[in-house]
Amino acid sequence: MTEITEEQKMLLENLRRVVKDKIAPNAAETDKKGTFNWDVVSLFWDLGLLKIMLPEEYGGWPQKPCYTLCLSIEEIAKACASSALLLVIQAVGSFPLISAANKQQREKYFPRISQGRELIAYLVSEPGAGSDVQAISSTARRSGAGYIINGRKVFATNGSVAGLYSVLAKTAEKEFSFFIMDRNTEGISIGKIEDKCGFRGSNTAEVILEDVMVPGKDLLGRPGDGFSVAMADFDMSRPAVAALALGIAEGAITYALEYAMDRITFGKPLVDHQALQFMLADASTQIEAGRGLMQRAALSYDAGKSNTQLASMAKCFCSDAAMKITTDMVQILGGYGYIKDYPVERMFRDAKLTQIFEGTNQIQRMIIGREMIKSGTLFSY
Ligand SMILES: Cc1cc2nc3c(=O)[nH]c(=O)nc-3n(C[C@H](O)[C@H](O)[C@H](O)COP(=O)(O)OP(=O)(O)OC[C@H]3O[C@@H](n4cnc5c(N)ncnc54)[C@H](O)[C@@H]3O)c2cc1C
Repeated sequence: MTEITEEQKMLLENLRRVVKDKIAPNAAETDKKGTFNWDVVSLFWDLGLLKIMLPEEYGGWPQKPCYTLCLSIEEIAKACASSALLLVIQAVGSFPLISAANKQQREKYFPRISQGRELIAYLVSEPGAGSDVQAISSTARRSGAGYIINGRKVFATNGSVAGLYSVLAKTAEKEFSFFIMDRNTEGISIGKIEDKCGFRGSNTAEVILEDVMVPGKDLLGRPGDGFSVAMADFDMSRPAVAALALGIAEGAITYALEYAMDRITFGKPLVDHQALQFMLADASTQIEAGRGLMQRAALSYDAGKSNTQLASMAKCFCSDAAMKITTDMVQILGGYGYIKDYPVERMFRDAKLTQIFEGTNQIQRMIIGREMIKSGTLFSY
C-alpha cells in the first residue's frame, strides 16, 4: 500500500471506530427508510470530513487532501455508501469556489462552510444535459450589476438539504459560468425528490431557478470560466468516486467471505467450492488493481500533475469492478443474497450509480481514448 502519513493513519483508525459504532448499525435502516440522516452530517462535521478539500486556513487537510478524501470515502462506503457520498458531493460542490473564488468570495463563503457547517450542492445536470454538459440551457442574463438566472437543474445531490449551491449557467451563447448561490434566494424552489434504486439515504433533488437575482460579485471567476472549472472538478471527483466504488465492493466481499465460510453445501463450506473461491479471488484482485489506480489518480491530483486520464481510468475501472463484484457476492449468498435482510443486496444496488454519475463509464472511455490520441502515447501523464 502507498505509504500513508501518521495523520492519515490516525484519521482512518478513528474513522473505522466511528463507522463500526455509528454508521454501520444504521446503514440498512437508512436504506430502507430512504431518508436523509442529519446525525451523520453532524458527526462528519465533528470529524472534519466535510471540509477536507477546503484551503488549509479554513480547516482543509494540509497534505495530500484528495488522497485523504479518497481514503475516508472508501472506509465509510464499506458500511454505508449514502453516508460516504456526503464527502464526495461536499468536495464537488465546493470545488468551483476553491478553484475560482476571489478574496472576497473566499472570506465570505469558506467560513460559512467551515464554521457554519453548510452543505454545498453542485447544480450542473439538467433534463436535456447530463453527459453533454455544454447542452445546458439555464441562462444567466446580465441585469444592472448582477444576473437574472433561469433554469431547471436535476439530480442535484443534497439539492434540498444544502444551504449553498454551485450553479452552472450560460452567460452568453456557448459561454458557461459558475455562480455561488444561497438556497434561500428568492426564485429558488425545490421540485421532485428522486426515489432511487440505490443510495437511498442520499438526497437527490430537482432545483428550479425562476428569475433568481444574483449579484455580479457571486460570479465565480470570469464569465466563460465555468466549463473548464467543471472539467477540472472531475479530476478531483473521479478518484473519489473510484474510492466510493472500492468501498462498496470491499463491504460486499467482506460479508460474502464470512458467509461462505459458515454456509455448508454438499458437506463442506461454500469457500471450499472452487467455483466460489475463484469469484472471491477475482474480486480481491480487482480491488487491489483498482486501489492502485485510485491512489495514483488521487496522488497525481495532490501533486498538481495532469491526471485526467488516470482519474477516468480509476473511476471507470473501480465502478465496473464494484458492479461485477457486488453481483458476484450476491451470487455467493445464493437466494439470501437477493433478500433485503442481507447487506449485499443494498451494496449491489448502490454499486450501479458509481458507473453512472460523475460522467458515465462510456464517457470515461471516451476521455481515456481522447487523452491517448491527444498525447499520441499510451498514457497522457
Ligand atoms: C443519484 C444521482 C446523483 C447525481 N448527482 C448529481 C449532482 O449532484 N449534480 C449534477 O450536476 N448531476 C448529478 N447527477 C447527474 C449525473 O451526472 C448524470 O445522470 C450523468 O452524467 C449521465 O447523464 P444523463 O443521466 O443525462 O444520461 P445521458 O447523458 O442521457 O446518457 C444516457 C446514456 O447514453 C450514453 N451516452 C451519452 N452520450 C454518449 C456518447 N457520446 N457516446 C456513447 N455513449 C453516450 C451514456 O453513457 C448513458 O449510458 C446525478 C445522477 C444521479 C442518478
